[in-house]
This record gives sequence, C-alpha cells and structure tokens, in this order.
Amino acid sequence: LYTRNMSTMNAVVVEKHGGPEVLQYKQVPIPKADQKNLVIRNHIIGVNYIDTYHRSGLYPLPTPLVVGKESAGEVVEVGPGVTNFKVGDRVVYLGGDTYAEYSKAEPISVVKLSDNVSYETAAASVLQGLTAWTMVRDGYPVKKGDYILVHAAAGGVGLLLCQMCKHLGAHVIGTVSSNEKAKIALENGAEFVINTNEENTVERVNEITGGLGCHAVLDGVGKATFSDSLEAVRRLGTVISFGNASGTVPPINIAILSKKNVKLMRPALYNYLGSREEVNKWFGELWELLEAGHIKIHIHKIYDLKDAKQAHLDIESRKTTGKLLLKA
Ligand code: NDP
Repeated sequence: LYTRNMSTMNAVVVEKHGGPEVLQYKQVPIPKADQKNLVIRNHIIGVNYIDTYHRSGLYPLPTPLVVGKESAGEVVEVGPGVTNFKVGDRVVYLGGDTYAEYSKAEPISVVKLSDNVSYETAAASVLQGLTAWTMVRDGYPVKKGDYILVHAAAGGVGLLLCQMCKHLGAHVIGTVSSNEKAKIALENGAEFVINTNEENTVERVNEITGGLGCHAVLDGVGKATFSDSLEAVRRLGTVISFGNASGTVPPINIAILSKKNVKLMRPALYNYLGSREEVNKWFGELWELLEAGHIKIHIHKIYDLKDAKQAHLDIESRKTTGKLLLKA
C-alpha cells in the first residue's frame, strides 16, 4: 500500500504553522520504544478541532510536529519498563503524533479495547466522547428537567453532548448553522434547535425557557458565542467554555459573572485523565454508554491519511457533522 523501507513511515507533518496547506504528507523515522513507552501501529486516527489549532499555531507546539491526538491500533513494541501492555494488544491512544502510521505512547494515555469495540468506534468516540461526558458529569452535572444550551450541536462533541444530556433527562437546545444540521441535531437528542443564520440565540432561548435562561451553556465555539452564552444562562447557572472554533474568547472582567452569580469553567480533557484510576473510571463509563446504546457515533467520513489536508479544510468549513477519521 505504501512505499517505504523498514525505518520510515508515512506521517502528516507541520514544519511551519499556517492553513491546511502546511500539512505535509511525508516520510519520517518510525519511533522506537524506550524504557517506559510503547509503539502503536495506528489503523484509524481521530480528527479533532484541536488538530487545527496545533497546525495553525493557536496552541503553539514546537515544529516540526506530527499532528494528531487520537488513534486506535495495535501495540507493536513495548519498552522493558512497561508491564501492563504486550505486543498485539488492541488499543486506543489519546496522546500526540497520531497522524502517522506509528506513534510512540506513554502507557497512561493508552487503553486496551475489548473485542467488541472496533478501531473506527474507538477512534471516533474517545476524545470527543470523554470531553462531552466529563463536561456533563463534572463540569456541570446535568439533571433531569434542566435546560441545556449546546453550541455547534451537530459537530463532533456537539452531537455527543446532545445525546448525553437527553439521556440524563435534560431539555437540549442546540445551535447550528444550517437546516441540514438542525435535522441531525434533532435526531440526536436536541429538543429545540436554533439556526444561527436565521434566528437570534438569546431571544430563542428566552422564548423556550420562559425568560429564565438555561441551567448550563456548553460552548465550544468561543469568540463568536461567548457573550451570547453569558446572556443565555440563567441566574445561578453554569457556562462552560471548552473551545475556540471561531477564535479565542477575549479576556473578561470577572465582575460580569456577579450579574447572575454565574459559574464559569474552562476545562481541558487531559486534566481529567491524570491517573490510571481516573482513566479507568471515565473510559469505563464511556464504554457503558456506547454498549447500552445511549450514545451513537456518527462518522462523517473516513479519509486516507494522505488526505488530512482535505479533512482540515472540511472541518473548518463548518460543513461537517459528527466525526472525521483518517485511515493509516
Ligand atoms: P466540530 O465538529 O464541532 O466542528 C466545529 C463546529 O464549530 C463547526 O461544525 C461549526 O458548527 C462550529 N463553528 C462555529 N463558528 C465557527 C467558525 N467560525 N469556524 C469553524 N467552525 C465554527 O469540532 P469538534 O467536535 O472537534 O470540537 C468542537 C469544539 O470542542 C472545538 O472548539 C474544540 O476545540 C473543542 N474541544 C475541546 C476539548 C477540551 O478538552 N477542552 C476537547 C475536544 C474538543 P456550526 O456551523 O453548526 O456552528
């Protein structure tokens, strides 16, 4: 399939930050396990919005870098100090350098897959699923009857948030930018949708909630929506700002939160996964949700690894719904 010798692999590399055109598909050395690491042969790779921040430099990482934070595949090499994995284990990995045929991984970032979880399902559900589940269990513990506003409700994290909030008994209000996306959000747990190209978010939230606003607003859009999120939350409510799809949220004067005693949170998934106990807890709960059918994964498209540039063009164009994957 690929032309390479035994010491190099295909990977997607950024040498200089910029737009999707800076993603180079090229040969780089295959990583080797050291004492405490292992090497995974990636089969399916998750595309996440954060990959575009690493590419553009919004989240600065030293270059050259291999893009990507999520993959599923098999363990092909184990360092002598690693005790809990063996060659041949089927795993999912949440770490760096995954837009490549092989990744070197720390054991804390790797989880074994049971036979009934495919590489597609694993790479499509873990990063976005855990982001959504930690948000609705820890960030704001969603309760039956709550009104929850989910921005970008038809996106990767958004569709999962809609399904999880509905499963927890909440009324979900989703924002989307097209009627096609509205339909998908409604099919996945949203009870109300707001097409932001046609309607005013705050006005619609007030209509739906009798002027009270939402118990929580889950905002991965960032700059374009942050002030609406503060308007749309109710007194004593919670705003969780978890991403920057439209740009970063400018600095705020915290006194604005006192208008309604609003709780404001800015989480990052990796801080929920600091120990093996935490990893086991959150992954265990995610597998249960999947197994019980409480959440379903929507795969937008599986691209070849060499077409990572197209995947970035597509996710940034706002035309995608659900999850984008790469095949290595
Ligand atoms: P999505 O599939 O949700 O894609 C982003 C969506 O954002 C688009 O589909 C679009 O939906 C919406 N959007 C609104 N304005 C813009 C804009 N100007 N440009 C592009 N998109 C826009 O991506 P993900 O599910 O991968 O990620 C969603 C968010 O969650 C991101 O901000 C990401 O960084 C964040 N995230 C945060 C994590 C954390 O640990 N804090 C972990 C994982 C994700 P529409 O057109 O319908 O508005």
